[in-house]
Amino acid sequence: MPQGALQDRFLATIRDYHAHIYFDQRSVEVARELRNAIGDRFDAELGNWNVEQVGPHPRWSAEILFAPPLFGSLVPWLALNRRGLAVLVHPNTGDELADHRDHALWLGEMLPLKLHVLRPANPIRPSPQE
Ligand code: ZN
Repeated sequence: MPQGALQDRFLATIRDYHAHIYFDQRSVEVARELRNAIGDRFDAELGNWNVEQVGPHPRWSAEILFAPPLFGSLVPWLALNRRGLAVLVHPNTGDELADHRDHALWLGEMLPLKLHVLRPANPIRPSPQE
């Protein structure tokens, strides 16, 4: 979001998080070990293992899905144990474009995403009592 009045967003709009671990031919084994280590240590879902560029991702990638309560342990662990790999962490709010462009966290190298393949869509609205 550019300059202007602070527009508060509600944590309740975060359904879950993705961590995308990027790798290439040279780092594929390191990425595999890192993914398995996450599976051993955290109650996270090991998602797609992409040995091709898919969606907005400019390298091969391993997808990790996790619930908000895991953020405080999984993300710091990844920061310390990513073994040189670039990692994108983003919330899922229903707005794919904003989630990857405006709400993203990067561990290590920040890669240029192919944002044109993403669209803003179906933001989750907080329920009235929130
Ligand atoms: Zn994602």
